[in-house]
Amino acid sequence: MVQAALAALTDGVAGSLSLGLRHARRDRGNGVCTFNSLVRAASAALHAGAERLLILDLDAHCSGGTGSLIAGNPAIRLVDVSVNAFDRSTPTRGNALDLVRRAAAYLPIIERRLAELDGDSFGLVLYYAGMDARQHCPIGGYPGIDGALLEGREHLVFRWARQRGLPIAFVPGGGYTGPLLNRDSLVALHRLTLAAAVAHHRSEARAGEEAIVDRADQPAGR
Ligand SMILES: [Zn+2]
Repeated sequence: MVQAALAALTDGVAGSLSLGLRHARRDRGNGVCTFNSLVRAASAALHAGAERLLILDLDAHCSGGTGSLIAGNPAIRLVDVSVNAFDRSTPTRGNALDLVRRAAAYLPIIERRLAELDGDSFGLVLYYAGMDARQHCPIGGYPGIDGALLEGREHLVFRWARQRGLPIAFVPGGGYTGPLLNRDSLVALHRLTLAAAVAHHRSEARAGEEAIVDRADQPAGR
């Protein structure tokens, strides 16, 4: 995750196929997480020159571990939209936690939280792309949240980052299989994140190329 964060600072978009391990606390592991790689990545990015960071956590479960580690640090802001109260804690100043109670409200709440960030500036977004909110996921799955909705979420996030020119590093989360969610289906869910990252990164690259062409068409300067 650290390398993904540093790569995103130069490349615009990067991802790690590890895990974010975001339940871990400073003094102990928690929720099968031994250390918090999201906060490790945030620290590395700040050390590398990023002025402020947003951690956008859309895993099914709350990110109390991350919240506890960044409490009181004005350089890192946490936006957490969850559907399951595991690892819930009261968000500290400047941070946000939503516990969604209706599938229909899931995307609108994420959209509203992102819109609220418009006046804020960030040098990097760390995106925890948890897929365990999908219905039938044995740990965290929420009725009514299906693959199409999660695909819409991924495009919402990466489009938002591109439109604001924000570098973004992502990490997949919530890789649980069960009787109604087999491994192929789970892999397909995580591929939604990769596809959205590539799609919006490519459109950004195309826009850059068009700008270069436009400039080339201009008469030579003085
Ligand atoms: Zn989870």
